[in-house]
Amino acid sequence: MFNKKIQDAINDQIRRELESAQIYLSMAAYFDSVNLPGFAQWMKMQFQEEQAHAFKFYDYVFDRGGQVILQALGLPPTEFQSPLDAFEQTLAHEQKVTGHINDLYALAAEEREYSSQIFLQWFIEEQVEEEKSAGDIMALLERVGDNEQALMMLDRELAQRQAPAEAGAATE
Ligand code: MG
Repeated sequence: MFNKKIQDAINDQIRRELESAQIYLSMAAYFDSVNLPGFAQWMKMQFQEEQAHAFKFYDYVFDRGGQVILQALGLPPTEFQSPLDAFEQTLAHEQKVTGHINDLYALAAEEREYSSQIFLQWFIEEQVEEEKSAGDIMALLERVGDNEQALMMLDRELAQRQAPAEAGAATE
């Protein structure tokens, strides 16, 4: 029988990953609305990545003989002042997610749930990446400032982002 506390906490985390997906899709819609298709593409890939995170937790619950119980999702933000504002919100959001992953790990340690600790290590590493990529783009946007030409160059660069490698994680 899968540890009930861990199961409940993972179900909460599935909700958070799906909420993250919604937030990034909302940001994609903002970027499409201001004709920045490269930024929108980056956010659409981020949307997919968050769905892959939710599925990783989903599969784990079933692997452990537990039960997935979906929850209502909070509404995503829909107002963004600027590309920089969207990426400041992205970084702040990912920092919050890191805190939740850390709490989950602490709970797994407290419950002596060793396999859950091992499972969560992937997410601990992933959050380092998430914070870094959001922070890097945020820093670039700070340098771009009001330079429209530099913004277009960054947009073309972000358009290169392809489907997340984690999409193949289901085979793990
Ligand atoms: Mg995530």
